[in-house]
Amino acid sequence: MATVSLNNLVKKYGNLEVVHSINLDVADREFIALVGPSGCGKSTSLRMIAGLEDITGGEIRIGDRVVNDLPPRQRNISMVFQSYALYPHMSVAENMGFSLKIAGRPKSEIDAAVAEAARTLSLEELLERRPSQLSGGQRQRVAMGRAIVRKPDVFLFDEPLSNLDAKLRMQMRTEIKKLHAQVQSTVIYVTHDQVEAMTLSDRIVIMRDGHIEQVDTPEEVFQRPATRFVAGFIGSPS
Ligand code: ADP
Ligand code: MG
Repeated sequence: MATVSLNNLVKKYGNLEVVHSINLDVADREFIALVGPSGCGKSTSLRMIAGLEDITGGEIRIGDRVVNDLPPRQRNISMVFQSYALYPHMSVAENMGFSLKIAGRPKSEIDAAVAEAARTLSLEELLERRPSQLSGGQRQRVAMGRAIVRKPDVFLFDEPLSNLDAKLRMQMRTEIKKLHAQVQSTVIYVTHDQVEAMTLSDRIVIMRDGHIEQVDTPEEVFQRPATRFVAGFIGSPS
């Protein structure tokens, strides 16, 4: 069960508090979009969930475990970033299998997991290529493939499409939706693109200056924005 709960989660950098005691309960297999202006604390929150950033206060639960002190590897999450550095000297297949390889999994298991991920993401024809021989969209698909081979309970995305052009972004949105339906994991998806958030998610979390303004379905957020800020950000009629 991959629920994610943030309880009074706080982050300070030195004396500067950038996440102010936020609370959020994400259901198993839910697709949550986390939106808000640049600098409001989206990436910091995601990185704390991933274990890439220490927390200053509060608690993070994944399933029935408090993961505050667990290293990233033990949290059963995968994260896909905007800058998804692939290993240039490895083939697509090697890139996708790498995390399983360093975890010491047998070759047969790695090959099977890579083949399955390649099918899911239509990468079968590209497995022997190097990253330099791929388009931007193909590279982003490999980055997602690398994330799904580990069959994580929770996927964290940090603006994964913002380096792509508009047409490719549309295409990848469809891919991500398909991916979510197939792998059945819980997703927390950070974006500053309201349209992306509205079309992909079950619920939207709107952040502003380190706190949460509203958590609701796309329809509710649009029809009944809780604050003037939300209305402005989502572009609701006022
Ligand atoms: P977002 O992803 O919503 O654009 P971030 O989570 O990256 O925002 O940043 C939130 C706030 O924390 C910003 O004010 C940012 O400048 C600050 N911040 C982020 N990382 C660091 C860091 N390593 N040291 C100091 N301040 C940071
Ligand atoms: Mg960010």
